[in-house]
Amino acid sequence: MNKADNLAGAAGQSQSVPSSIDLLIVGGGVMGLWAAVKAERMGLKTLLVEANRIGQGASGGLIGALMAHMPDKWSDKKQFQFDALVALEGEVAELQAATGLSVGYRRCGRIIPLPKPHLRDIALRHQQDAKTNWAQAGHQYHWHVLDVPPVADYLSTQEMAGGFVYDTLAARMSPRLMGKALLGYLAAAKHVTVVEGMGVTALDMDRTQATLSDGQLVSFGHVIVSAGYQSFPLLQQSLKLSPAKPLGQPVKGQSALMKATIDPAVPVVFLGGLYVIPHDDGMVAVGSTSEEGFVEPFTTDAQLDPLIEKARQLVPALQNAEVIERWAGLRPKAIDRDPMVGAHPDYPRLIALTGGFKVGFGLAHRLADAALRVVEGGEMQLPHSFSLENHIAVAMKIS
Ligand SMILES: Cc1cc2nc3c(=O)[nH]c(=O)nc-3n(C[C@H](O)[C@H](O)[C@H](O)COP(=O)(O)OP(=O)(O)OC[C@H]3O[C@@H](n4cnc5c(N)ncnc54)[C@H](O)[C@@H]3O)c2cc1C
Repeated sequence: MNKADNLAGAAGQSQSVPSSIDLLIVGGGVMGLWAAVKAERMGLKTLLVEANRIGQGASGGLIGALMAHMPDKWSDKKQFQFDALVALEGEVAELQAATGLSVGYRRCGRIIPLPKPHLRDIALRHQQDAKTNWAQAGHQYHWHVLDVPPVADYLSTQEMAGGFVYDTLAARMSPRLMGKALLGYLAAAKHVTVVEGMGVTALDMDRTQATLSDGQLVSFGHVIVSAGYQSFPLLQQSLKLSPAKPLGQPVKGQSALMKATIDPAVPVVFLGGLYVIPHDDGMVAVGSTSEEGFVEPFTTDAQLDPLIEKARQLVPALQNAEVIERWAGLRPKAIDRDPMVGAHPDYPRLIALTGGFKVGFGLAHRLADAALRVVEGGEMQLPHSFSLENHIAVAMKIS
């Protein structure tokens, strides 16, 4: 098979797909793409179908922050995220080496200004927690508490009542470059076929058969549902007992891209829900809103403006920076907030891989591993709260 043969749809090539496969992946965002990459490495005959364009759902945004949970109150969930963030560096290096494509990754660290004095006491406790919990497998990351920012002349506020946290675990990458690199990897795949512009319209789990939007039928051994927020109804349809509440919901986010001269090596900044992320290409991403109620899912509005204004005030280099793009997307938020992964209780061959919510890029590679362990008949090795089973139980209980 030559390089282009297993990428169909986008450029008007034939959309005919294999009629029988080991694994069907529904949705080509960061979750589905990582699952496809892992399936390729395992030699599984796989079809990834994307209803629209690859990497242009929630995964087609601008921000790309890779942030850990707080280093205190350690739990299996925090451990999983820590391991995933540490492992991503190696995954990215492998992906970049295989494709020759950069994903704009850098462990740049994060500055968190502390506007109130009492925040310093909390931060000092976290500094100690990080010494223990962020020192693992030969890696030591820090939650430094500083009086001044670790980079001079970057922030307008050189003094803060509580000082500044400098977190050395945080990293960033470019969501769009990540999508391109994962797709680039799959362009040379031997076992995976990727089709754009074709969605799954129905899943018949008794027959292990999917109907595609052009009417073709595909039989599969397993199916991974990685359709972002659209996974929730798809998974719910296959439940024998209907839960009282939806398994999850879309949460709208808006962000902006600004053009500015900022050293791409500087840490990202986080202040009161605002992220400022300098990327490698001279662009600085700013965001994001978090909207559970919205009318227009994919257009930006005045709610984005205060974030842009706040970013201009915080980072002098952004004061007169041109806004190049305003972008909105829908994050998949599962009912119990954590990612939603694993076998469907009624149909073990139906596997969820969604619920990345605000942290999908830092976890997707490891969540995909877990989903594929299920395909192989193994244990997921994930925190219980991430399991589809847990989310269903929560949805069933809520009246
Ligand atoms: C404004 C904003 C900022 C964010 N910032 C960050 C951040 O800084 N760091 C971070 O880690 N995360 C961030 N996120 C979250 C992150 O973007 C998501 O967790 C992640 O992209 C979800 O990936 P996904 O593959 O599950 O979904 P998506 O990227 O939405 O992909 C799902 C795909 O499935 C396709 N699809 C749907 N239904 C079907 C069907 N029936 N058949 C075939 N295909 C189908 C869709 O077209 C879509 O392409 C942000 C999100 C937003 C909106």
